[in-house]
Amino acid sequence: MRIVEILIEYASHTLDRPFSYLYEGKKNIGPGFRVLVNFNHRELMGYVLSVKSTDKTSEQLEEESGYRLDYLVDVIDESPLLNEDLFSLARRVSDYYLAPFISVLQSMLPPSLSPRKSSLKAPKIAYDQYLSIKRYSEEDLTDKQIEILRLIKKEGKILKREVGSPSVVEKLLSRELIKILKEEKRRLLIPDYSLQKPPLLTDDQQRVIDDFSKSDDSVYLLQGITGSGKTEVYLTLCERELEKGNSVLFLVPEISLTPMMMEYFIRRFKHQVAILHSELTPAEKYDEYRKIARGEAHIVIGARSAIFAPLEKIGLIILDEEHVESYKQDTTPFYHAREVSIMRGEMHKAKVLLGSATPSLESRARAKNGIYHLLRLDKRINEQKLPATKIINLADYHNIDRESYIFSLSLRDELSKILISHQQAILLINRRGFSTSVSCRNCGYLFRCPTCGIALTYHKGDNMLKCHHCDYVQVMPETCPECGSKYLMKTGFGTERIEEEVHRLFPEARTLRLDSDSTKVRNKIPSIIESFRKKTADILIGTQMIAKGHDFPDVTLVGIVLADIGLSMPSFRSSERVFQLITQAVGRSGRSDKIGKAIIQTYNPSHYAITYGARQDYEGFFQKEMGMRKLQNYPPYYFLASLTISGKKEETVITQTYNAVDYLNDQLGDKAVILGPTTPYIARDHLLFLRTILIKYRDYSAIQETLIKLIDLYAKKSGVNIDVNIDPYNF
Ligand code: ADP
Ligand code: ZN
Ligand code: ZN
Repeated sequence: MRIVEILIEYASHTLDRPFSYLYEGKKNIGPGFRVLVNFNHRELMGYVLSVKSTDKTSEQLEEESGYRLDYLVDVIDESPLLNEDLFSLARRVSDYYLAPFISVLQSMLPPSLSPRKSSLKAPKIAYDQYLSIKRYSEEDLTDKQIEILRLIKKEGKILKREVGSPSVVEKLLSRELIKILKEEKRRLLIPDYSLQKPPLLTDDQQRVIDDFSKSDDSVYLLQGITGSGKTEVYLTLCERELEKGNSVLFLVPEISLTPMMMEYFIRRFKHQVAILHSELTPAEKYDEYRKIARGEAHIVIGARSAIFAPLEKIGLIILDEEHVESYKQDTTPFYHAREVSIMRGEMHKAKVLLGSATPSLESRARAKNGIYHLLRLDKRINEQKLPATKIINLADYHNIDRESYIFSLSLRDELSKILISHQQAILLINRRGFSTSVSCRNCGYLFRCPTCGIALTYHKGDNMLKCHHCDYVQVMPETCPECGSKYLMKTGFGTERIEEEVHRLFPEARTLRLDSDSTKVRNKIPSIIESFRKKTADILIGTQMIAKGHDFPDVTLVGIVLADIGLSMPSFRSSERVFQLITQAVGRSGRSDKIGKAIIQTYNPSHYAITYGARQDYEGFFQKEMGMRKLQNYPPYYFLASLTISGKKEETVITQTYNAVDYLNDQLGDKAVILGPTTPYIARDHLLFLRTILIKYRDYSAIQETLIKLIDLYAKKSGVNIDVNIDPYNF
């Protein structure tokens, strides 16, 4: 008999402790195996933490402890899910982020291997059948049979389904001249790009590579302006690691947005590359994961969770566009791939390279203080000039085009020049949909999401009102539900409206639209990007998605239709976000031999995020913004942690949040500043009411114990739930 300690699949603090079960079966079982158990009358998945043998019977055990242990239902795996490295990484992540351990495992593993009951239905291994020679003899064979036998001999091994004549194959099989080999199939189709010879490095690129290679530091920040050739630096550094026999983890924020990046890597490294990102099907993820675990991939390219890829002998971890917020997971365990990459780098003694044209303030400040080693690329390849930018004040009516309230005279003029000269333009509006809100002219009723409470956005294409926070949708009504009036007013505008406006003003223009509505269809994004690169359209209209890392050689105009969106968001990061967005978007213009232009339309023409963004002046912005952060005690001067307390009864949530604030003030004294309770921007999450507390602190070790105690305390309370977010983004 064995006693098995497990974690169950529910990721909550209340259940984040081992439960014991008995096992009498014959299957192999140990730490890291998944098992099925009955828990509170439900069959759930469990993750084994430890196994002990005992000579006692279940009755004896019951007598000793006073309660009865259940038997496991079944053992799922034949070997542990994670190797020791990954297991200890999971521990570190769970300790740092104060997250239920099971939630970290669930984030680490692909759906088919996740410790969740749903994984049982997820895809398993698929095989390909190959044919090879078993015993070569042409005796008594027909010409057809000999032909195929010779073909198999010549090829060594050949895919069964690719051999034309199944009946001949069956014959050869039945005579035992050939045999079937089963091999694991890779369901992800990777385009077969030809190998490409690398370009000659520029002096600047060479200098950065030498500096990196000679240094013993562990974390590096490569700050290189848009178009300065960072990708080639990454590729060369990867090559060097492979030569040393090491492997490389290469992270990009959203790989589906940068199909070019994948192409560069495949051209350089071919089948050594494995790919892990959210657009893959569960089957593809499973295959890629196994390919990595078998040691067949030496480079893994992927999004956030690829930081957990089961790669061994890692020599280098690269995070491209390190400032992008999708590196932070916005659900439990709320980890940030940058912090995890540094943890993993330490464990493997691997170097970590963060790259960006607009580094996050946190990273740049660390580089300034010598915590990260700063590397810089300050010139564009071929010394190409940065685009000439113009800020247009929308509040000045002289700038406004009478025929269009959306485009200024300058932007309209530049767009027409683009169309005449057959170049390309990008129009950015950081909001999808047609209009931002719909309200009643008669009574003022505003259409809101019934689950989150925020205003619904009108989408004209399908005549729907959609919530941009959750997945709520409803058909656009004809009349006001309050007063019955027919006069419903649509205010604000998004990508859909801009596209309509372009068509109205320039009927001949060919447009493409890229926003997160496009992600609803698999592989739609790369195909839009590809087709814009191939010049099937003149103007690409999109949200911040189009600002990221693309290289469109014929784009010579970038128009930011309304730069202010985001500035009014209640977040200490709003200026940083707007600055990054402008800099990155403007950087898409004029990347090959043609000089680019950019037009920035705004109601706040003198806001520093906009003026520094227009000038592409990172240093200037950094100085100014650091001053602001210092004044307000925000990162990088202070660290943040946020607590969200949720429950079905608003009163209970409010009382419990006040209690938590008192507790924290009491325990932490002057070690932290406690703000709250506050009602978050999105105050409801389905049927739960939410309140938050923000903690500002300088030394995590001084507050960690208190937070753990508070979590334990709330884990035992009924009616409320507590979530902790270390280094939160949305404040
Ligand atoms: P970044 O990522 O810094 O914005 P990219 O890596 O996209 O810049 O490089 C910009 C352009 O310069 C790309 O088209 C790239 O192919 C080209 N490029 C990069 N390095 C070299 C080089 N050493 N010689 C010639 N062209 C280069
Ligand atoms: Zn009304
Ligand atoms: Zn909603």
